[in-house]
Amino acid sequence: MSEKKIPYKIYLSEDEMPRAWYNLRADMKVKPAPLINPGTGAPMTAQELENVFCTELVAQELDDDTAFFPIPQEIRDFYKMYRPSPLVRAYCLEEQLQTPAKIYYKFEGNNTSGSHKLNSAIAQAYYAKKQGLKGVTTETGAGQWGTALAMACGYLGLDCQVYMVKCSYDQKPFRREVMKVYGASVTPSPSDTTNVGRKILAEFPGTTGSLGCAISEAVEVAGSNPGYRYVLGSVLNQVLLHQSIIGLESKIALDKYGVKPDIVIGCAGGGSNLGGLIAPFMGEKLRGEADYRIIAVEPASCPSFTRGKFAYDFCDTGKVCPLSKMYTLGSSFIPSADHAGGLRFHGMSSILSQLYHDGYMEAVSVNQTDIFRAAEQFARVEGILPAPESSHAILAAINEANKCKETGEEKTILFGLTGTGYFDMVAYERFHKGELSSAVPTDEDIAKSLARLPRVD
Ligand SMILES: *Cc1c(COP(=O)(O)O)cnc(C)c1O
Repeated sequence: MSEKKIPYKIYLSEDEMPRAWYNLRADMKVKPAPLINPGTGAPMTAQELENVFCTELVAQELDDDTAFFPIPQEIRDFYKMYRPSPLVRAYCLEEQLQTPAKIYYKFEGNNTSGSHKLNSAIAQAYYAKKQGLKGVTTETGAGQWGTALAMACGYLGLDCQVYMVKCSYDQKPFRREVMKVYGASVTPSPSDTTNVGRKILAEFPGTTGSLGCAISEAVEVAGSNPGYRYVLGSVLNQVLLHQSIIGLESKIALDKYGVKPDIVIGCAGGGSNLGGLIAPFMGEKLRGEADYRIIAVEPASCPSFTRGKFAYDFCDTGKVCPLSKMYTLGSSFIPSADHAGGLRFHGMSSILSQLYHDGYMEAVSVNQTDIFRAAEQFARVEGILPAPESSHAILAAINEANKCKETGEEKTILFGLTGTGYFDMVAYERFHKGELSSAVPTDEDIAKSLARLPRVD
């Protein structure tokens, strides 16, 4: 072996840390389709978006051409508290698999919020503060995004109002209380604090809520309170931009040792961690400088890439948000109640959707019991207790490494390990009790929700 002995963890010094986010859209020949105003059918203007989102974030959202956005010093200082995130050579997993493949993973779970979402939360909170706003509103389902945003707002002294899907609010008390530690106010949704919440409560008393409803409440509160804007933790172009820090750090670290991955793998919910991890690699691919196999991994119970349609759709079930052109299962699609592994968004980032559509990346779907098995296999050799979402990428990486074992190829695999599973022990418990199945939607289920796509000419 001629390669330098590579350490278990490759760190970067503060000087080596990225100073700018990379905007993948700058290198895309076919740009992602614009957001559309469902009322007018025309592309959303900056002005329309600025009623809901922070001004500077709108500029980032709409900019398809600027390749690099300098990371403000204040954000870089915050990043230094928990970044660089570890890039680990999975020697123990390789040994256990007896594979000639070389496996690396980028672990985003070693901050208190427990996932990569903090990378964008701090950026979004920073621009809100810089604009002189009093606070931001958002929704959270399982709570990772709400927790990350609460931390970022707590740090900057910004008010943070989180609408948390009621069943999660009741069933996930720990995440709820972590948000409160960081000073956020957490309201179970639907609530009687908004018009839309009161309407839903009157219509469906006793409902346990949904993400779509929580989004509608958070957007209403931001729109009706001066000094407030709404923020979102995935899907949007700006979020992928901020998450490029994951891929940029990975690439700098691997370059130090002359390592070039053959395969880059990430789990895909709304696409933010995957879009961030692959950014600099996909950039090289788009510019024709290098080639990589890039694989998105999604749950078989919510298969937007592998079984969805590339079309304009609403981002939320409440249909208050702009239309986005993306791979979608339809905004009325709801994954099986049995589904515990996260990644339950019906659509996908429009950037990744366009890249997938144009053949720059692959997608696979995996089933839930297999991902929990892979999670435990990984935990026992590498030590880290992974989030179920992250375990989709683990499983795909193991599958690729096993293929190398059959063919004898020494491929280098990089995957994103997006978070820790400490707050997912109820899901692990259900797995241990054998209560999880791998319910997959039928073609009819998907056709039914796709039949309700909005018409866009
Ligand atoms: C939110 C989340 C995801 C999925 O979101 P993306 O926007 O697709 O990255 C994956 N893993 C963890 C741990 C998360 O919290």
